[in-house]
Amino acid sequence: MNFKKIEEKLKELDQPAFRLKQIQKAVYQDGASSFSKISTLSKDLREKLDKEIKILSFEVEKVLVAKDGQSAKALLKLEDGKNIETVLISPKPGDWSVCISCQVGCPMGCRFCATGKMGLQRNLTAEEITDQVLFWRQYLKKSQITNHKNQTNHKFKIQKPKFGNWKLKIENYDVNNIVYMGMGEPFLNWENVGESIKNLINPEFFGFGSRSISISTAGITEGIAKLAEEFPQINLAVSLHFADDQKRSEFMPINKKYNLEDLRKALQEYFRETNRKVFIEYILLGNINDTKEDAEKLAKYLKSIGKLQLLHVNLIRYNTTSEELRPSSRNRAEEFKNFLIKSRIQVTIRKSLGEEIQGACGQLAGH
Ligand code: SAH
Ligand code: SF4
Repeated sequence: MNFKKIEEKLKELDQPAFRLKQIQKAVYQDGASSFSKISTLSKDLREKLDKEIKILSFEVEKVLVAKDGQSAKALLKLEDGKNIETVLISPKPGDWSVCISCQVGCPMGCRFCATGKMGLQRNLTAEEITDQVLFWRQYLKKSQITNHKNQTNHKFKIQKPKFGNWKLKIENYDVNNIVYMGMGEPFLNWENVGESIKNLINPEFFGFGSRSISISTAGITEGIAKLAEEFPQINLAVSLHFADDQKRSEFMPINKKYNLEDLRKALQEYFRETNRKVFIEYILLGNINDTKEDAEKLAKYLKSIGKLQLLHVNLIRYNTTSEELRPSSRNRAEEFKNFLIKSRIQVTIRKSLGEEIQGACGQLAGH
């Protein structure tokens, strides 16, 4: 939502200052999808605003929901006709995370990533970034209304909960976490990403806690330093994927600019500044980076950073986006994990949600 535009419009219409607050609350916190739904405004004002201002800066072209109801992907059409994607995921019942894009495409060209294959088309504005969160808030609110209707229509179909917090689960129709893990590299669009974070944590707008927001980078070291300085409470994830410079450069061209040594120094500095946990993302590619030797190299590299207690490795089995690469077998993934555990490294194999809707990591390509 273009907040400034609304502010100007209200002034032009001679509205008292509290109107803005009412709109802010209804749109950002309650998920109103049009001004006509804001009952605290007069009918006349609602009509005027609806005619001239759109709440979302894009059209929603389609929403795909996974069969298990645990994830959904939306294809959005921006004002200039370009497409981006955003994903809603429930990593555990009652918890909703929104995965947002920050660029149309990505200039980094990682070989395993569908977004990378598109190249960079343009940066998103701060408004286009936060509107993805607004959209999912609206979507969840609408699902709540429909679900409640269904419940009254088919009362006998609702199963009684056997244990405790059933109600809680079903009544959470709001977004809990935001991850900058959609299309694009956040630190290459820092100005707009930074502004979007400010809006997300501003209690007058979205009001998210900093700790419920995470940023993932392929390893832009200046970006890591800026994050520590400007938003030390936001979570950092680093897409490492290879602990060997030669292999990393082969699959992630960015490694030629910022190699593993640069990244190590950046992380050491990050720990000095923030003393906060960092998530290391590691996709498992069959026979490419998943052997015992690779696990040893990874353990050695992480130990060389120091502060092992502040590192957590997320292993992700590769989501197929290209014919030349294969995911590791489940066995291999387990072995890799066990080796890290033995080396006293905190590690989890991340369940890949959304694969069937092509909404999983690295599968977003705007179609
Ligand atoms: N550009 C940033 C933010 C995007 S996050 C970054 O790369 O960190 C997207 C995450 O999905 C990254 O960790 C990325 O490396 C990972 N990813 C990309 N392609 C993937 C694939 N095919 N399978 C699994 N994960 C993938
Ligand atoms: Fe860009 Fe991240 Fe994909 Fe690499 S993995 S191409 S940095 S979006």
